[in-house]
Amino acid sequence: MGDSSIYKNDFYIISEDFRLLDFNQNVKDRYDGIQIGDLCYKATMKRDTPCQHCPIAGNTRQDCPIYFDPFYGTWVEALFSELGDGRYAVICRTVQENEQSIFEQLQKEDYHIANNLLEGSDSENIGMIGGYCEDGFPLYYVNHRMIKMLGYDSREEFEEGIKGMVVNTIHPDDLPQVSADLGDHYYVGMKYETSYRMPRKDGSWFWTIDRGEVIEAADGRLAIISVCLDITASVATLENARIAADSANKAKSAFLFNMSHDIRTPMNAIFGYTDLLEKNLDDPVKSKGYLFNMRKAEEILLALINNVLEMSKIESGKAVLNEEVQNINFLNDNFRSIFKEKMIEKNIEFTRETHVEHNLLYVDQTKMRQIFINILSNAFKYTPAGGKISVCIRELPSDREGTVLIESTIKDTGIGMSKEFLPHIFEEFSREHTTTESKVEGTGLGLPIVKKLVDLLGGTIEVHSESGKGSTFIVTTPHRIAQEKETLEQDTDVVDTSRFTGKRILLAEDNDLNAEIAMEILKEAGLVVSRARDGIECLDMIEHSEAGYYDLILMDIQMPNMDGYKATQSIRALDDVGKAAIPIVAMTANAFKEDRDKAIASGMNGHVAKPIDIAELFHVLDGALK
Ligand code: ADP
Repeated sequence: MGDSSIYKNDFYIISEDFRLLDFNQNVKDRYDGIQIGDLCYKATMKRDTPCQHCPIAGNTRQDCPIYFDPFYGTWVEALFSELGDGRYAVICRTVQENEQSIFEQLQKEDYHIANNLLEGSDSENIGMIGGYCEDGFPLYYVNHRMIKMLGYDSREEFEEGIKGMVVNTIHPDDLPQVSADLGDHYYVGMKYETSYRMPRKDGSWFWTIDRGEVIEAADGRLAIISVCLDITASVATLENARIAADSANKAKSAFLFNMSHDIRTPMNAIFGYTDLLEKNLDDPVKSKGYLFNMRKAEEILLALINNVLEMSKIESGKAVLNEEVQNINFLNDNFRSIFKEKMIEKNIEFTRETHVEHNLLYVDQTKMRQIFINILSNAFKYTPAGGKISVCIRELPSDREGTVLIESTIKDTGIGMSKEFLPHIFEEFSREHTTTESKVEGTGLGLPIVKKLVDLLGGTIEVHSESGKGSTFIVTTPHRIAQEKETLEQDTDVVDTSRFTGKRILLAEDNDLNAEIAMEILKEAGLVVSRARDGIECLDMIEHSEAGYYDLILMDIQMPNMDGYKATQSIRALDDVGKAAIPIVAMTANAFKEDRDKAIASGMNGHVAKPIDIAELFHVLDGALK
């Protein structure tokens, strides 16, 4: 007998032509080398044709057949559910071990042993019942389990409740199907399998799978004897899986629909303006205008990608708290510059005030910034010219010792939101007006991210808004109070690039366009740049130059032949210590903190995210160049 625990909750999605579209880890562990696209019966049951119990192949009427899995030697219950688009979800679970031996005994036609086993087993959800093969199936046999499962206290009470007829243990609506499954010709040894609802004493009912056979009773009359399994729990599991798969599917379609529109819009602008720019290169005024528009579209595209990545990261549970000691004033100080352009462009009065007693707090700066930026960019987006936006940060006492609450109120006099829309603002992709209607770009991801981040920080968010009047967002987050000495000085120096002049950089980058952009930026700052097209070439160039010839390597991570991590490890392992110690900075589109950590762990000295922020690049170079 196989290890029944590994059967639990096997989950597949298959197509109507029996191809595996998805499966869970259990399945992966169970069947060596199983792959998406394999034929399910081949990959799991090692068969050349669909299984005898498979309802998709039309081989059974049941949507929860129980079958014997010869491959592992156990009884398995499979629950099939149609997902639409020709896809099916299948959950397989081993029938409990005690149930298995019962079915085995039944298969060996020994129902007496089966009954004994049943009474002795600790399975609460199988009972046995029998009736003479006569009109209404007069009760011939019932075991304790069955009486209990149907909600009766004694055999007498049970007999009375069903009026002595087994037919009364079948939901009337399911009778035609049961009759069809049993047929009208009974003979000793005849086996049947059917499924129906069993009514309990209190009028409620449960779904059962009934497997049984016809025997000769002690008095020589023919009788059916059934083992009934309560499958309510399995059906509920299946229903949940179906609902989950369904809503995941809907969300995915909505996501793709929104994404393709929202990516195409700025991409279209970039393509269009690139064309125009090409044609008008000799007109500096026009060119500048086109470049400005291209830059806007690029920013939208980048914000969109960042939002989507952020969302998927939070949803996959990968986002972690990263608290550092911060002067809480940073919240208000940073934003003026970010929104300055918008402020001037739309003539918006932007005021900020901070009322805190404790300046130094533990803050997850990235998450707090993101919360503020998302709410504030909405305020700027949805407030017409001449409006007002204010930020007020207040300290409130907290119940927890050594902790305060920071209440941030962001208020605008913008277009506001309707009462009907307000309850939906934290739903992904929900927007009161489409881009086409409002001419305001957006994805409907900003606020869902805010909500998720606030939850992650253990805070709360409140929104008040009225159409035509404006909106107020109040975010309250808990923060531990920090001591003065724990704080780190913020490094805000502007880098003096004059010291870069003549330094040699080896740029390892496989993508020509990225390489060209990086080389232009670096050359502008007086650096001398050579390029390697992958990790192997980079390693080769270091090995074949004198130690100290290159001052620093800028290393892309995802490259063909040898990636940046491997190249760094190989360089660090070189015998020539001078060469092995060269500063290496990762320059990569893998922009999460984990990627940064991984770069450092593989021996790099720093990390710059793509698309390149020039100030950040220079800052990192300044720190890494000796
Ligand atoms: P986006 O702004 O990208 O559409 P959000 O999730 O940030 O997505 O916001 C969802 C919707 O909530 C917006 O489309 C808008 O209808 C509404 N909204 C958010 N903030 C404001 C605000 N300050 N004023 C008016 N409407 C707002």
